[in-house]
Amino acid sequence: MTPAPSRTPLLEVRGLRKHFPLRGGLLQRTYAWVRAVDDVSFDVYPAETLGIVGESGCGKSTLARLVLRLVEPDAGTIRFGGEDVRGATRARMKQLRRDMQLVFQDPYASLNPRLTIEDAVAFSLLVHGTPRGAARQRARAMLGRVGLDPRLYGRRYPHELSGGQRQRVNIARALVLDPKLLVLDEPVSALDKSVQAQVLNLLQELKAERALTYVFISHDLNVIEYVSGRVVVMYLGQVVESGTADALADAPKHPYTQALFAAAPTMDPDRRIERPPLAGDPPNAIDPPSGCRFRTRCAFAMPHCAGAPPRLSSVGADHDVACYLYEAHAAVEAVTR
Ligand code: SF4
Repeated sequence: MTPAPSRTPLLEVRGLRKHFPLRGGLLQRTYAWVRAVDDVSFDVYPAETLGIVGESGCGKSTLARLVLRLVEPDAGTIRFGGEDVRGATRARMKQLRRDMQLVFQDPYASLNPRLTIEDAVAFSLLVHGTPRGAARQRARAMLGRVGLDPRLYGRRYPHELSGGQRQRVNIARALVLDPKLLVLDEPVSALDKSVQAQVLNLLQELKAERALTYVFISHDLNVIEYVSGRVVVMYLGQVVESGTADALADAPKHPYTQALFAAAPTMDPDRRIERPPLAGDPPNAIDPPSGCRFRTRCAFAMPHCAGAPPRLSSVGADHDVACYLYEAHAAVEAVTR
């Protein structure tokens, strides 16, 4: 992705790769690999929201876990505030995780059913050495900030809350450590539409209030468009397009991005344009197609799309695409730069 001028990224990801082995038989031998994330690079700038969008199974949730080293990458670099995250010791990683927090999709599964929500929020502070009384006080203040009155909700258990309230607890739990970066993995996908809007608005308020940086992962293009300044589109473990949310919405370049927009319902008559439909299911990440991984579903596929994979190249300011349809454009840009 082309970096924005004169800004230093908070998070830099380069060439990140994770392949999971599939084992079977008596000796549990590896017989195949799931290529979940393959050579993914992007930057996240301070106080922005970078949206990552793609169908389920495209590797975006694995990517979230790789960035926080909850899953160890096979290759690639991750720099946070200029520091090499992959090279961090266990003790240093614990400190770094204060600054980089993850909010999961399923608000119920990610809460301990035996802890009251006040204890759940205070727990991470205790782990990082905050005295019990101070931790409880900060947890109560944080619950209040996410719209859960601690006098009413503090002593309740997760099963006594609605889905939206549980996700507010998860957000409080992530923010109570005063992180710089929040990685939000499908944070509203499990919620009703009306509750989704409330949680999204809360996230926007908290971001402005605390100068937070978000990596927002979702399969829902409308949600991504609403919250993101820039967007990365992933297909079968790879980035196929990246750019500002406006550039992608106004003129999506990659046939897959065009298909995602075509599939997303819109009320905007200017956006209702003819785009090629997305045909068939995504291929298996165990044995992805050669060359361009989208070619088996692409309406514009050409013989050479099965050869070398297309590389991300610039098609405009901060707008990159990996598709042979735009190679001539990228070559002209390179010459005139
Ligand atoms: Fe379609 Fe070829 Fe572009 Fe891939 S590289 S999206 S197959 S035109």
